[in-house]
Order: sequence, then C-alpha cells, then structure tokens
Amino acid sequence: MARARSKSDLPTKICPVCGLPFTWRKKWEKNWDEVKYCSERCRRRRSQAKTEDS
Ligand SMILES: [Zn+2]
Repeated sequence: MARARSKSDLPTKICPVCGLPFTWRKKWEKNWDEVKYCSERCRRRRSQAKTEDS
C-alpha cells in the first residue's frame, strides 16, 4: 500500500495569487522550478492585481 503511487506523490506549490495549492503537471515537467502560479490566468492576474498581502 505504501508503494502505491498517488497524486499526493507529485510535488505541489501554493499559488501566490489565488492562495490555493496546485499540483505538478506534465506540461510543467521541464520548467517546474520556474512555475509560480497555478494557471496562466493567475499569472496574468498577478500583474494586474493590486498589491495584496494575505
Ligand atoms: Zn492561482
């Protein structure tokens, strides 16, 4: 059972824009280190949004 691979095995990060955790995706396999936002939408929103600390 401990060997079973599940989604929880994948790395996760917290999106600074929406504050939600997001999980590694295949499309990010080459640039995961650079990924900061859960989606393109958040990435764009980041540049538009006012500075807003949680
Ligand atoms: Zn987000």
